[in-house]
Amino acid sequence: MSEKLIEFRNVSFRYRDEQPWVLNNCSFDIHMNEWAAIIGHNGSGKSTIAKLINGLLFPQEGQILINGKEVNQETVWEIRRDVGMVFQNPDNQFVGTTVQDDVAFGMENRGFTRDKMLEEIDRNLRAVGMQDYRLTEPHRLSGGQKQRVAIAGVLAISPRVMVLDEATAMLDPHGRAEIMDTVSEVRERNDLSLITITHDLQEIVQADRVIVMNGGEVWQEATPREIFEKKNDLQKIGLDAPFAALLADELQLAGVPISRTGPL
Ligand code: ADP
Repeated sequence: MSEKLIEFRNVSFRYRDEQPWVLNNCSFDIHMNEWAAIIGHNGSGKSTIAKLINGLLFPQEGQILINGKEVNQETVWEIRRDVGMVFQNPDNQFVGTTVQDDVAFGMENRGFTRDKMLEEIDRNLRAVGMQDYRLTEPHRLSGGQKQRVAIAGVLAISPRVMVLDEATAMLDPHGRAEIMDTVSEVRERNDLSLITITHDLQEIVQADRVIVMNGGEVWQEATPREIFEKKNDLQKIGLDAPFAALLADELQLAGVPISRTGPL
């Protein structure tokens, strides 16, 4: 297996002292160039993991290392250069008055020259198929197009990892397909790892590895196919039978042979 990019070492987190732990002794690694999907029932701690990776929160116990460096108050700004986030609501991510201003935003904060910015805007809007919308006002775009622009803005700062936290959840099926096509294409880039936090089976099926969260703990790490084969156990953690059946269908569509034995 390739080099580790993100390491969670016995991480525990709670939002307030008197509250229960939201993450409990979580350990897992994300490798360079890997696509990892994180799934789990509502409240299982997935979004909290995203915020810890980006240094929006810090764990009370354990350590998070990104590229060998611990995420803490001192390193957080440096680490954020390595981590690009795409969130659920496309409307909350826009800061520019045009698509190109928006893609430029992250670069402006990082001291890119004007020529370099223009080059990166062009390159990354092309990468997400939005090169014809440079001067469009973001509010005129569809949800899927908005998320593609958000992805271009993240790619423009050349992060080592892009985290998509339920980035397709508010999109219609067409928008979801747009984003997944975009994500599949950009994963081919060198030195970019992907973490998709999701309920969308497409995002699980195409991932290299799936991390299943349950009640703030890492319940399972496995390939999509192995996850399906544990379908009866999935029900115990709130990912029910229809989920397993749909996963089977998606795996078959993706050409992964599976046997459907036993009750779903
Ligand atoms: P998921 O993304 O899997 O739905 P979250 O990480 O959002 O889970 O939430 C995990 C738990 O933390 C839930 O019980 C949730 O209610 C709680 N939680 C999330 N955000 C906050 C917050 N800002 N303050 C207090 N509790 C929170």
